[in-house]
Amino acid sequence: MAYVGRFAPSPTGPLHFGSLITAVASYCDARAHNGKWLVRIEDTDIPRIYPGSEDHILRCIDAFQFEADDAIIFQKDRLDLYDAIINQLHKNHLVYACQCTRKMLGSNHIYAGTCRDLNLPFEQQAIRVRVSDQEICFSDRLQGTHCSNLQQDLGDFVLKRRDGIINYQLAVVVDDYLQGMTHVVRGADLLDNTERQIWLGSILGYPKLKYMHLPLAMNDQGQKLSKQNMAQALDLNRAPELLQQAIRALHQPEVDLDTPAHMLKQAIAQWDIQHIPHTKELEGTYL
Ligand SMILES: [Zn+2]
Repeated sequence: MAYVGRFAPSPTGPLHFGSLITAVASYCDARAHNGKWLVRIEDTDIPRIYPGSEDHILRCIDAFQFEADDAIIFQKDRLDLYDAIINQLHKNHLVYACQCTRKMLGSNHIYAGTCRDLNLPFEQQAIRVRVSDQEICFSDRLQGTHCSNLQQDLGDFVLKRRDGIINYQLAVVVDDYLQGMTHVVRGADLLDNTERQIWLGSILGYPKLKYMHLPLAMNDQGQKLSKQNMAQALDLNRAPELLQQAIRALHQPEVDLDTPAHMLKQAIAQWDIQHIPHTKELEGTYL
């Protein structure tokens, strides 16, 4: 079976233990399927890039001895490509300009389609994609069946912001396609994004992907580890210990402390996703 997977962090802060769990799971799952593993830096939201975090990501990949099968790509170098896709969608009448301000939208999280038929010019406006009133479902390898009706749950959503920033959802879908991705392994915090990405993939005619959403590591406040919640940056001097903890967090068989490359090799040989808790959160707390 063909398998191409990826690790796709956003450089909005240094990588933390939750990121390591995702890196390990995506890597072991790809290698256990004799697949390829790619790294992509999701940095389209340029104002949110945290100084030094791209460098920290690259140093982590080295320190944990992950081997990417291709050059690492940076989405901020590919903005023209995403614009070209928006133009393609425009030609097919699948996107439109929206002049609604945050104030006009208020606290309503479901976009009512106010600008759908106004035919506004694209300059200086947000660009939204049309969604349809239908249930989109997928079968997650860990989380089971997950569904959403985008029209009822969300409404037409933004692909490009008024300030020109390309939305994460679009960049993910386009790059997963261009990089030949077959499998997505990532944190369960992204479960609710998946139907939007499936919708975009379907209107662009891209092949379907298989998804696995991992349970999240939580801190002692009951929050997921994240840059916003001040998760500790991965300490590259403790790579073997942290790797052993990440493999444990995924409930995989124990690996011996060794060089990271050897530990990963052992983890790949023992890899079994049935051991991973089929939940959205891991038990226990992490820093
Ligand atoms: Zn609008």
